[in-house]
Amino acid sequence: MGLSFTENVRSDLEETSWVRLFSKQRRNEFFVLVAEEFVRDKFNLLFLDMEEKNYRRSLDVIFNEKSESDAGTDADVEAGKLCGRIHARFILTGRGIELMYKKFQNCNFGTCSGVFCRWRNVLPIGMSDTPGNEMVRLFCPM
Ligand SMILES: [Zn+2]
Repeated sequence: MGLSFTENVRSDLEETSWVRLFSKQRRNEFFVLVAEEFVRDKFNLLFLDMEEKNYRRSLDVIFNEKSESDAGTDADVEAGKLCGRIHARFILTGRGIELMYKKFQNCNFGTCSGVFCRWRNVLPIGMSDTPGNEMVRLFCPM
């Protein structure tokens, strides 16, 4: 399937205020913007409804269709987890890899302060597929 993306694609995700707030939280600046086409394709979200409780409500919060998304509430936390899982799938796609690579090149993930690493750009990695199990870590290619 030949989906074409451009850098200037405006997505519903970008426009919702929940996603804007979410992306400003600590560590969430590591996220790239997930293409709307990716989220709208139900195949890409397969089985997430079984793994995430209140899946439907979380999607509503992400798309801002209901206003029960006050920071720190259960709905907010669950929406954040779902967002993380969708993002984890998205960055395995060609477009996702490309966006992550750009962030890596632009040094958006930071640099390594190791003596022999010469401030080499680092890459965030997840040690577990289960949300909340592990904090994000930074991998130094040196
Ligand atoms: Zn290093």
